[in-house]
Amino acid sequence: MIDNCIFCKIINKTIPSVTIYEDDLFIAILDKFPTAKYHILVIPKNHEENIFTASCDTKNNILEVVSKICKALQKLGINDINILQNNGENAGQTVNHFHIHIIPRFTGDKEIINFYSKEEDDVILLKYRDDINRFL
Ligand code: AMP
Ligand code: ZN
Repeated sequence: MIDNCIFCKIINKTIPSVTIYEDDLFIAILDKFPTAKYHILVIPKNHEENIFTASCDTKNNILEVVSKICKALQKLGINDINILQNNGENAGQTVNHFHIHIIPRFTGDKEIINFYSKEEDDVILLKYRDDINRFL
């Protein structure tokens, strides 16, 4: 529990949220500022900041909860879903308590997840591979 963390406050019920799922380790809530209908956040109850510091247990287990909720959405007729997880300011993380977004997508929506991409030279891709492989 971190004093100024909005998600810790939600987990401790000191501020309200619309909770759709809860177990010993995780809570899932409806995003208060949704980018889509049924936009959901899955949040570990333990305060862990990001992909770098969250425990392996958290990271391994959270996808099961995400998956369970996605299957419920599928039963509502939602088959198109983005799973998003932001780390750090440049990546759009605004709440420094690890969480995964479940963002349903609908035909014709004007949503956010567009990659402005262009084809890259293989020489550059191989350099990137070598950069990363030095640390794996
Ligand atoms: P991120 O930008 O990945 O850190 O996501 C944080 C998310 O928390 C944003 O989508 C916000 O809309 C959402 N959010 C912020 N405050 C609340 C709140 N009180 N209840 C529910 N969701 C919130
Ligand atoms: Zn927190």
